[in-house]
Amino acid sequence: MSLLITNARILSEHRIIERGWLYADEGRIRAFAGGEAPNMDAKRTLDADGATLAPGFIDLHVHGAMGDEAILGDEAGLHRMSEFYARHGVTAYLPTTLTAPHGQIVAALNAIKRAQAHPRGAAILGAHVEGPYLNRSKAGAQFPEFIRLADMTEVEELLDTGIVRLIAIAPEFAENRQIIPACLQRGVTVSIAHTAASFEEALASFDLGISQVTHTYNAMTPLHHRDPGVVGAALADARVRCEIICDLLHVEAGAIKALFNAKGTSGTLIITDAIAATGLGDGEYGLGAHRVHKQGKKVTLMDGTLAGSAVTYDESVRNFVKAVGRPFHEVWPVASLTPAQAIGEAHQRGSIALNKLADLVLLSDDLRVQMTIVGGQVAYQRGEVA
Ligand SMILES: [Zn+2]
Repeated sequence: MSLLITNARILSEHRIIERGWLYADEGRIRAFAGGEAPNMDAKRTLDADGATLAPGFIDLHVHGAMGDEAILGDEAGLHRMSEFYARHGVTAYLPTTLTAPHGQIVAALNAIKRAQAHPRGAAILGAHVEGPYLNRSKAGAQFPEFIRLADMTEVEELLDTGIVRLIAIAPEFAENRQIIPACLQRGVTVSIAHTAASFEEALASFDLGISQVTHTYNAMTPLHHRDPGVVGAALADARVRCEIICDLLHVEAGAIKALFNAKGTSGTLIITDAIAATGLGDGEYGLGAHRVHKQGKKVTLMDGTLAGSAVTYDESVRNFVKAVGRPFHEVWPVASLTPAQAIGEAHQRGSIALNKLADLVLLSDDLRVQMTIVGGQVAYQRGEVA
């Protein structure tokens, strides 16, 4: 099915087209240019009315929404998550598991694989396995009782599901470091997470191929000028891309700006780390086997520890733009191209370029989602879906 979008401000990979058109066919971007659209035989034509057409958002780290969670292994729940995220401009994401018993993680991965085969809403790119190979002293909201050292047989079983794209580990343990080559061999990105590593240990793990930093600043050794920690290593080493939660509760706006000024658009990527309570009212909810309390955008364990966010991706983008003090058209890659690059997906997603998938988001001037298009199909249109 072909789609023609006219009258759009297009943030293409290499330039901004102030007023132009884009044509998609068979799910891919086939042509775009400035000015009036040529006479084209499209199945559907949409007038963007001057709104901004950007690459669809890609969330690499998101646990749940609307009461559903990736770790529960519920295929229907994953579809509901996909539809919820599409309403917030997300065109592709990695359902993210939590620290849990091995069997439960394997079951969750298999459910993600089944859900991926029947796409609805935002596309499932694969799975993000966060934990259990973390550091108990930096557990945050991850279950300390299930945190353990990596076991190669177990890891092979996770990788054999064929759905894992990203795995987050604490590399200060030799057992955990051992899995890095096997992951890289299978094209799985490895991220440093929930870690008490020193600056030197973090740099050494980057030498081994860790290329990402999980929710930078949170659940890791902080930057002290005489003990720069994982945060210092993340800022100092150009090889790693840094995830950042932009709910303005996990990280202050000034720290988001400091990160962005050090890493730039190619080294910074927005994640939500959103949990099941996202999209629901205040109250008590599940997070794996935990109970959490949600009030406004704040989700905490009963002891007050922040337990993932309840922020949506579009709100995160608005917060980020405000925090860094730069217009969206200058920083858009942090929401699409950089996450795509982080998991080896940029050949077909993450920017508006010829023959890439037509995964697009139409945004108002104040960055509200007007429409989300996944693979050339309208997945959400403001006002049309409840
Ligand atoms: Zn985490």
